[in-house]
Amino acid sequence: MAGEPQADCLFCKIAAGEVPATVVRETEQIVAFRDINPQAPTHVLVIPKAHYRDAATLAAAQPQLVADVLREAAEVAAEEKIDATGYRIVFNTGAGAGQTVFHAHAHLLGGRGLEWPPG
Ligand code: AMP
Ligand code: ZN
Repeated sequence: MAGEPQADCLFCKIAAGEVPATVVRETEQIVAFRDINPQAPTHVLVIPKAHYRDAATLAAAQPQLVADVLREAAEVAAEEKIDATGYRIVFNTGAGAGQTVFHAHAHLLGGRGLEWPPG
């Protein structure tokens, strides 16, 4: 069923607490944890606990959950004190865009100057 945990999914395991992560925020719907290979002083991944392969699939199935992810990302940005200087939220979608984990996730990046356009 859509949204059900997938046995072979790393982020489902993190959401279930079966794989350790540095969790910075958790609600009934989402979990936010530090990226293991940070690309900025603040690099946090915000994921829905429910499994969808990418942001587009999540948005089509559960638009409210996209709003939850974005709201909680903003809360983390405030907690990390990067809200005043600015931050970027990225959803890599598809292997060609660099998506490597096929469980929808927002990258929250900040704490340094961020160039535009990104690579
Ligand atoms: P993406 O390439 O957009 O799919 O993003 C996946 C992200 O997950 C990458 O930035 C990885 O560094 C990160 N990542 C992979 N494994 C872990 C892990 N066990 N804990 C935290 N972050 C991870
Ligand atoms: Zn998953």
